[in-house]
Amino acid sequence: MAIVDMSAREMAAAVRSRELSALEIVDAHLAEIDAHDHEVRAFLLVLGDEARRRASQIDAAIARGEEVGPLAGVPVAVKDNMALRGVETTCASRILAGWRPPYTATVLERIEAAGAVVIGKTNLDEFAMGSSTENSGFFATRNPVDTSRVPGGSSGGSAAAVAARFAPLALGSDTGGSIRQPASLCGVVGAKPTYGLVSRYGLIAFASSLDQIGPFARNVEDAAALLSVIAAHDAKDSTSLGAGFDASEIATGVRGMRIGVVEEMLDGVSPGVSSVLDSAIASLVEAGATVERVSVPAARFGLSAYYLIAPAEASSNLARFDGVRFGLRVEGEDITETYLRTRASGFGAEVKRRIMLGTYALSAGYYDALYGKAQQVRTLIARDFAAAYERFDALISPTSPTVAFRFGERSDPLSMYMSDVCTIPSNLAGHPGISVPFGAAEEGMPAGVQVLAPALGEATMFKVAMALEAAAAKQTVPAWRSAAAS
Ligand code: GLN
Repeated sequence: MAIVDMSAREMAAAVRSRELSALEIVDAHLAEIDAHDHEVRAFLLVLGDEARRRASQIDAAIARGEEVGPLAGVPVAVKDNMALRGVETTCASRILAGWRPPYTATVLERIEAAGAVVIGKTNLDEFAMGSSTENSGFFATRNPVDTSRVPGGSSGGSAAAVAARFAPLALGSDTGGSIRQPASLCGVVGAKPTYGLVSRYGLIAFASSLDQIGPFARNVEDAAALLSVIAAHDAKDSTSLGAGFDASEIATGVRGMRIGVVEEMLDGVSPGVSSVLDSAIASLVEAGATVERVSVPAARFGLSAYYLIAPAEASSNLARFDGVRFGLRVEGEDITETYLRTRASGFGAEVKRRIMLGTYALSAGYYDALYGKAQQVRTLIARDFAAAYERFDALISPTSPTVAFRFGERSDPLSMYMSDVCTIPSNLAGHPGISVPFGAAEEGMPAGVQVLAPALGEATMFKVAMALEAAAAKQTVPAWRSAAAS
């Protein structure tokens, strides 16, 4: 088997047993990136020298008989909204071009301590606002399954990197679906943990009450392994929970489990994605679960509430990018004009739209009617999910209503926002969700099934995901074209 086709756990095992060196593994992935990233454009920055140096250190530690951690020698692609000390971090925004953070995100410290190797920083929609990577301030990433289509977003670069075998693992962030939706569109696994399970320290904030970092992988157990490394309390994040995640008990099956299909997430779903969900449901029944429809009524208002709350928080979080402390500075006659010019030329159209929406929603006279109401809807969504979880252990839905669309196809913002109609409710509730690839839908493109669970229900969520993956292995999983051709 080619190195780049191995699972992350197989790579780490081979490194620890000295069957393969960490350097061989890193070099195999760098060669793949070199050969194909000009087609995919997953990376904003490839950290070739740093990754090779780090791999050699791991090999040396192993030669000395030292303990090297569960992800020894495993390359990880990192969404470029996580700070890595001394390495340019832009959030795919021109306003941050050239900014080198003076500190490292907790998640990156944790994966490095586990022996993983950061292989590069991946592309995203500017400040994680979007569902296609077309909003990147630099260039769009292409879907490795069909390069005429988007990879989804905002973590499109991370999803594409894993699908294209540039890394077996990646980190993304999910505020309204930005891990799960690109995972679905690229045919990989992507999970958003419970809010507070993974530290946000060093994640450049979009909407702080919704943002959460999570794993991408090509199989469920690899995703669980990465989550178990990053899930931990962090005193540097005041919203961090005290919990961790144990990946050792996720393979026990779904026999006897009660699983609900969320009715509100079935509207507007394409025929291909619907039939993917139907066969997923059939496979869970066959595996011994009871599956029934359930209504989560307030989930219908998730998208509307999200597009008040997320822009409101973003308008406040993005106020710090003013040409004084970070990145770009466009001089004006005085300081006010410097702020205006810097922000006018540094932010892209979607980011400006969100700042305006958010500022409006928070302004005196509108606050109660807009932001206040959205917060009430958020409470209703949490309440309706709680009622559903009294009857069901987990819920399922499509991850996204359609397969990957073509570049430029969703030019009006609303049709783009609809990509996240099934993923947004769990961000508002703070619950975990995962997307598992389940074969192909329209035109042979991959489609994912979303599994939702209550707060800190990751173990249950992963069990259902494992059952789906086992059944999906019997379906045709689309291969990356270049890989298939070579
Ligand atoms: N697509 C959604 C948005 O544009 C979600 C983004 C995200 O999860 N970061 O806001």
